Amino acid sequence: MKTTHSAGHLTDRLPVIAYLGVGSNLGDPVRNCRDALRELSSLKNIQVLRRSSLYRTEPVGDTRQDWFVNGVLEIRTTFTARQLLKAAQWAEQALGRVRAEKWGPRAIDIDILLVGQEIVNTDALVVPHPEMHRRRFVLEPMNEIAPYVIHPLYGVSMKGLLDRLVDEHAVERIDAGW
Ligand code: ATP
Ligand code: CA
Ligand code: CA
Repeated sequence: MKTTHSAGHLTDRLPVIAYLGVGSNLGDPVRNCRDALRELSSLKNIQVLRRSSLYRTEPVGDTRQDWFVNGVLEIRTTFTARQLLKAAQWAEQALGRVRAEKWGPRAIDIDILLVGQEIVNTDALVVPHPEMHRRRFVLEPMNEIAPYVIHPLYGVSMKGLLDRLVDEHAVERIDAGW
């Protein structure tokens, strides 16, 4: 049976600009980030517009693990925030993420940072990502590709957040691209 209401139809949703954080500290982290980019790009609802440099970053939380490689992607997408999380989780699985330990080592981690100016607060999904404004490994790459984008909760640009940031964890731009 055909439904007449259109609220949930993918084709009805206007694309939004969203930002994804990608990170890895297992195996070949640069390659894992490249693979994540490739998987995300393969989805027809996602168009990658910009990518930050890749950064070598000191781990936050469990400091006994290897350093991470982190980067940020700017995408245009017709996915909802919830669908983006599903897509990110699908890509993580496709790349063989096995350990689910929060803040632990992982072959690939894809976080939903921003979805337009949307604010989401559910058990499964919080957008903007609740830690992004506190993390140098997020704000350095965000400042590189989206310095004027405003954080919808704080009303401050990425550059403004970075300027005010107190986070001593090292973040070093690396030459390898993705
Ligand atoms: P952090 O979220 O602090 O970076 P993490 O990436 O290590 O920690 P995960 O183990 O990857 O955490 O994810 C735990 C859960 O977080 C996921 O199952 C997901 O449902 C939830 N989650 C909530 N908000 C987000 C978001 N914005 N992006 C990705 N996952 C989110
Ligand atoms: Ca994360
Ligand atoms: Ca995550």
